[in-house]
Amino acid sequence: MRTPIAPLPLSTPRCAACGEPAAVQWRRRNVEDPNATDAVYACGPHAITLDAAALVHQADCPAPDPAVLPECGCSPEPAPPPTPVPGAEPTTALPTGWVVPTGT
Ligand SMILES: [Zn+2]
Ligand SMILES: [Zn+2]
Repeated sequence: MRTPIAPLPLSTPRCAACGEPAAVQWRRRNVEDPNATDAVYACGPHAITLDAAALVHQADCPAPDPAVLPECGCSPEPAPPPTPVPGAEPTTALPTGWVVPTGT
């Protein structure tokens, strides 16, 4: 006898709080591997703020727990510093060959 099982399509992520199709996603630090992150999904009503969703959250972040929304209850990891754009700052080449920011 076979028991029919309706598998959830893997291509359709679900909100971790209510099971509705996910509308947003963010990253959370993997509990067992600190170098890895896991995707966390949430529907619109259970989403955290856009700013928070841009950051990697702590492994014990409770979001999208409705009890803590729209905050998530953890301190997300700081965003990496923006990559400096070469040439964005005027520089001066000294006779020694050094290139330094142009002083005012
Ligand atoms: Zn939800
Ligand atoms: Zn968090």
